[in-house]
Amino acid sequence: MTFDVIIRGGEIIDGSGSVRYKKDIGLRGDTIAAIGELSGASAARIVDATGQVVAPGFIDMHSHADQTVLMYPSGESAIAQGITTSVCGQCGFSPAPLNRHWTACFWEWNWWDKVSPRKYYQEVVADLDMVKKHAKETDGLDITWSSFGEWLDVVERTRPGINIVPLVGHGTVRTAVMGTDYRRKATASEIEAMKRYVEEAMDSGAAGISNGMDYAPNCYCSVEESYEVIGVVARKGGLFSSHWRRTGLRQGLGDPGLINGIREAVDIAKKTGVKLQLAHLSPGYLVSPSPTPKLSVCAAEETLAVIDAALKDGVDLAFDVIPNHQTGGVLHVKYVAAVLAPWLKESGTLEQFAANLRAPDLREEIRQYVLSGKWFNLNPILQPGWANEMMIGKSKAGEFVGKTIAQIARERDQHPLDALMDVICADPYSILSRPSVGSDEVKRVFYRHPLAMVGIDTFLVNVTAEVKVPPYYLPNPNSFGGMARFIKRYALGLLGLEEGIRRITSLPAQRLGLKDRGLIAEGMKADIVVFNPEAVAEKSTDEEPRQYPEGFRWVFVNGQVAMEDGKLTLSRSGQVLRKNAQ
Ligand SMILES: [Zn+2]
Repeated sequence: MTFDVIIRGGEIIDGSGSVRYKKDIGLRGDTIAAIGELSGASAARIVDATGQVVAPGFIDMHSHADQTVLMYPSGESAIAQGITTSVCGQCGFSPAPLNRHWTACFWEWNWWDKVSPRKYYQEVVADLDMVKKHAKETDGLDITWSSFGEWLDVVERTRPGINIVPLVGHGTVRTAVMGTDYRRKATASEIEAMKRYVEEAMDSGAAGISNGMDYAPNCYCSVEESYEVIGVVARKGGLFSSHWRRTGLRQGLGDPGLINGIREAVDIAKKTGVKLQLAHLSPGYLVSPSPTPKLSVCAAEETLAVIDAALKDGVDLAFDVIPNHQTGGVLHVKYVAAVLAPWLKESGTLEQFAANLRAPDLREEIRQYVLSGKWFNLNPILQPGWANEMMIGKSKAGEFVGKTIAQIARERDQHPLDALMDVICADPYSILSRPSVGSDEVKRVFYRHPLAMVGIDTFLVNVTAEVKVPPYYLPNPNSFGGMARFIKRYALGLLGLEEGIRRITSLPAQRLGLKDRGLIAEGMKADIVVFNPEAVAEKSTDEEPRQYPEGFRWVFVNGQVAMEDGKLTLSRSGQVLRKNAQ
């Protein structure tokens, strides 16, 4: 027998949750052709997997590898941690459909101020022609598509390093229909126009729809609009991935109570019959002041109680969890000064910001704006314990290092905001660190639930990605090590490796209707990861999150080698997994 590749001597964890077993695997083309004792067979490439685990490629249920897949097509940050498939178009944002406007989705930092200069919140909807010009000039990105189908064609022509499962974003669809006039309910004919866009996306291969109820323009939609627009996806058997409403502040509604955001998503699923995925689940209850681990566990359990009640009620529901929530999100705030981004931007450089902060009137302006709860990066109303959750990681001012802002404020008998500004004055390059307050306990409660999957909620990048202008954000550490963290802390450390692997392979594949992925079995697509579980470790630090994890040796995407004995090959063998093409 001849194969293209034989993976020999590894312990197969097949993704189903069954106990591991020792066998060889033969790949032919993009398919797993044989599993068994293959010592007599020959192959162009033999992989010695002795002492390693061989598992299906990991599926990231929540990814923002949208436009970034064109900028970093090899997908190094995903491949380096064993991810071979990412579910994109999340939180209401997808690259298509486009009409005359563009919805910003947070990777445009290097040029967004040229399109839409703003001191506080960026205006998220801007003229498409302007966006095209700056995306091309600064990021070399050619925006040539308009319909969802055209977008998927562009991704296919780019030959991505990983497989892409695309969702259409309700926010993006709203922009296509309403342009800049989105701070209101849509009319009946606008809703009809949105439904046509969603239908086109589904017919082109979208796996479903996402919403982002904390983001403009999506947060302005009425529940009736959601029923109608998401109803199209329900009728076509797609998935509804919901970034449920957590703050409500952007609509000026005040805090609606987090758990009600989950209830709203469940209500949409009930009404439409759509398959619901609660995105990046976090507790639906706020505990204040900063909770003890026991109180955090309680908030998480009460959140699951709402989910379990919905399941009992017949709602088709599952969820994903970010393995590291303290620093969740697409971006990483490296400098302490960057939590005060509007004023840092205005100052132009870190040094100038520190100099400007010596002026009492600027301090007063910052104090008033922040204390009123208007600034999301530092919001004492939604996050009363914020000063306990910010620590000084590294600083020339040694007396602050390793202390939280709350501690520094107490020691100096100051308001925490003044302590924060003094830290920036003492060394504008002070590095921010986030102690995990009750976060790990919450993850443990969530991941124990049999329907919990993993989403790392990041861009697709490599180690060169950065925001070159203030506030100098970097890609989130999860971009590089989220899956490594899940394997170490929550697969090995909680669920057992077999069950942990199931959560990032066959469980998401089933949820997405990917019939030929997520399992090591004959006839399945050859998306495979070979790794040493004991050696898996994330390497990101507060100062430099852009570090690939350890422990991963080989990654195959559709039968092609994307990581060869620990080295990224930059082979680009991913596909767009179009739903109606399967
Ligand atoms: Zn989100």
